[in-house]
Amino acid sequence: MTEIQKRIEELHRVLPQGVRLVAVSKFHPIEKLQEAYAAGQRIFGESRAQELREKAPAMPHDVEWHFIGHLQQNKVKTVAPVVSMIHAVDSLRLLQEIDRQAERFAAERSAAGLPPAINVLLQLHVAREETKFGFSAEELEAFLAEGSWRQCRRARICGLMCMASNTEDMEQVRREFLMAYDAFHRIRERYFSASSVFAECSWGMSEDYPIALQCGSTLVRIGSYIFGPREY
Ligand SMILES: *Cc1c(COP(=O)(O)O)cnc(C)c1O
Repeated sequence: MTEIQKRIEELHRVLPQGVRLVAVSKFHPIEKLQEAYAAGQRIFGESRAQELREKAPAMPHDVEWHFIGHLQQNKVKTVAPVVSMIHAVDSLRLLQEIDRQAERFAAERSAAGLPPAINVLLQLHVAREETKFGFSAEELEAFLAEGSWRQCRRARICGLMCMASNTEDMEQVRREFLMAYDAFHRIRERYFSASSVFAECSWGMSEDYPIALQCGSTLVRIGSYIFGPREY
């Protein structure tokens, strides 16, 4: 068994039931993804549209592709034919573009065995670092209250995603994940109580996934712990 396969098997063993592993394979060659696949891994996460699009046909059909990073609007069409979930939606315009491209590529999605709708998560900004990505808590509330998202039938909002601060201070990380978990419950109650679809909490990476698991995560996005350091 290879190192990658040992890590995959270990993670599958320790993740609680109901938590799924997204193996973050960005910048790694297809051979490494194939190793992980052979150990039973089926969900792969990529953060560049072109890379995801090129890797998809090189892997078996039962792989689920997740786009995990910031997605520019003009790249939605690149991933729409093959992607199952887009993790970091932070504007109405991006959501509407995903909706449009899912419609446009309905035939390709169907041929690939994908459902017509693209699952999406709303990105909540909880970290200390300044970044232009992710909704603040206030922006997220305004976005949901405004209501236009309800028209996007082919961009299906399934939960929240966040990234914690890049810090050694694990209590800070825990506070941030708990903030996201609180927001998730508040939003589910207020806007999604009639649906079972809003159920995913995407938080936890190589350095902080054990804490994320204690804070309600249902999707952990783990890269370097599985595949080793990335060569950019
Ligand atoms: C790269 C990346 C990850 C994985 O990071 P690791 O530290 O390698 O586990 C998770 N989430 C997002 C959004 C990323 O861009």
